[in-house]
Amino acid sequence: MKFTQIRNATVKLQYAKKSFLIDPVLAHKNAYAGFKGTLNEHINWPTVDLPCDIDSILDVDAIIITHTHPDHIDDAAFKLIPKNMLLFVQNEQDKVFIKEKGFTNIRILDGNTIFEGINISITKGQHGSDEIMEVLSQRLGVVSGFVLQHKDEKTLYLAGDTVWNSDVEDAINTYKPEIIILNAGDAQIPKLGSIIMGKKDTLKAHKLAPNATIIATHLEAVNHAALSRIELRKYIKQNNIEKYVLVPEDGESFKI
Ligand SMILES: [Zn+2]
Repeated sequence: MKFTQIRNATVKLQYAKKSFLIDPVLAHKNAYAGFKGTLNEHINWPTVDLPCDIDSILDVDAIIITHTHPDHIDDAAFKLIPKNMLLFVQNEQDKVFIKEKGFTNIRILDGNTIFEGINISITKGQHGSDEIMEVLSQRLGVVSGFVLQHKDEKTLYLAGDTVWNSDVEDAINTYKPEIIILNAGDAQIPKLGSIIMGKKDTLKAHKLAPNATIIATHLEAVNHAALSRIELRKYIKQNNIEKYVLVPEDGESFKI
């Protein structure tokens, strides 16, 4: 399998001879106003440009959308993605939302999805702590991750926009992934806290899956991201887990 970090949570996975684009955000730098009520709301995002051209990003067999927040599928993506592209979504609500944008080939990940011999399982997550969800569950909504399995490939788990919780532990214990992709940019809502994972969660993942390769993504490109790559790499070094945790730059690829 080959992993390519594009920008933010947008990544490309080449897996069992098929290619998947995850959570496409395709706008140019500074296209959108900061998320209201979040850290650094005065800063426009994306805070960086895409590292490659749109055509090469969209040259895939399918797109997986973990949830429909605008930092996971944006207006530019709605405009640029061909309307007949196969899109996998987490539930009926997201299907309806995306269908309204004119897309014609949408499949819901139903727990039993097989695409070209690849098993795609949906996993649960929570976009903030229990305390945050009590106040903001409506706004933060339902989020998912997924697991890819194929006989010729390592099992891959992408957790999505979730904090570390029992959903994540259950997914790791159930599927025993050899590759774990974590949205680790520590997006923050002031006074409430993190709404995705941060640096400490990379260590938690390593402790639960000591042989897995962990890839940290969803870093630095949105206004409310609090964790820099430099700080995360420092933490990884301090905890002697550099061999297991990768922090790719935008445009960087790994074969694993
Ligand atoms: Zn996000």
